[in-house]
Amino acid sequence: MTRAWLAERTRHFEASGIRRVFELAARLKDPVNLSIGQPHFDVPAEVRAAAIAAINAGKNGYTVTQGIPELRDKLQARVDAEYGHPDRQVFITSGTSGGLVLALLALVDPGDEVLIFDPTFVMYPAIVALAGGTCVRVDTYPDFRPTAERARPHLTPRTKAILLNSPANPTGAVASDEEVRALAELAAEHDVALISDEIYRLFCYDRPFVSPARYNPRAIVIDGFSKTCAMTGWRLGFAHGPAEIMREMLKIQQYSFVCAPQPAQWAGIAALDVDMTAHAADYRRKRDRLAEGLAGYYELVWPEGAFYAFPRVPRGSGTAFAERAVQQGLLVIPGGVFSQRDTHFRISYAASDETIERGIEILRRLAADGGPG
Ligand code: PMP
Repeated sequence: MTRAWLAERTRHFEASGIRRVFELAARLKDPVNLSIGQPHFDVPAEVRAAAIAAINAGKNGYTVTQGIPELRDKLQARVDAEYGHPDRQVFITSGTSGGLVLALLALVDPGDEVLIFDPTFVMYPAIVALAGGTCVRVDTYPDFRPTAERARPHLTPRTKAILLNSPANPTGAVASDEEVRALAELAAEHDVALISDEIYRLFCYDRPFVSPARYNPRAIVIDGFSKTCAMTGWRLGFAHGPAEIMREMLKIQQYSFVCAPQPAQWAGIAALDVDMTAHAADYRRKRDRLAEGLAGYYELVWPEGAFYAFPRVPRGSGTAFAERAVQQGLLVIPGGVFSQRDTHFRISYAASDETIERGIEILRRLAADGGPG
């Protein structure tokens, strides 16, 4: 019996519910797929060219743990220009996920608590569990605002960190300047780490992106190239924050990920110079079309960023709704995957206009359909 070999931590979380939707998708012939959490555009040509050139030039080996100096220096200069913190250091990670794993492993001891805003990105509870910590969910229904007032009552002497994701997956909520500032001050006041996952920072449609690092010099920022440049498969991200914390995260990287893939790091240098704002504008237009298409059919908190909308199901559970959608050839993710409540569903509008139109049509039908939820 191999089961006896398994560590206790494997029992603390389940495989992602998103995978189950992908498995269903594999069985459908021409699904209307609004379930995918990655851009539908390709990596920019100059970025692909830079990776190919790096590979052909033999830049294929390990790099130093913190990443090649050419990319690190460029990122450090940007971070310094943006925040001007004397103690803020950048290093290169294996994707944003890699940065999140390192941050939580570096900060969380068994028994420690980490505050996350619910609904939440699926990885957070899993990584906190891996680190032996406990996730404390801060309920943000019905408006999905990640406010300090909502977080404050959940702080205890065991709280180690607050995790903020703005723009947010799965709700599309973008924290306002005041909200970010209040959270940054709350973390400082209680001397807890504030980890900011900024992977969607390019995709803010109605208000500017604000990082808590603007208001809290000790904020730990995790970012990456997956969404901004569609480089999801290239595993390239970066982290910045207090040097002491970065040093410990690097120590863990040295003995786990080792380094981010070298060709991707060279491509990252090119990626930093590509203007991706046209793609963000395109996604803003798609957001407008989707929200307009669902108006009057679904209760939807206006999604201000990322490329997700999180409407309420008309009746029944999110899971039952997603199953009914699959029967109509539409793939969306039940809200229960991201939340303790299974009352909503996630739509990704990182898709072609045609797919979005087909999706709207099916969703309108599903809203009108009086069948069991
Ligand atoms: N954070 C959030 C909020 C995400 O949605 C994702 C990807 N879906 C990640 C992190 C992971 O990104 P990466 O590909 O850079 O590991």
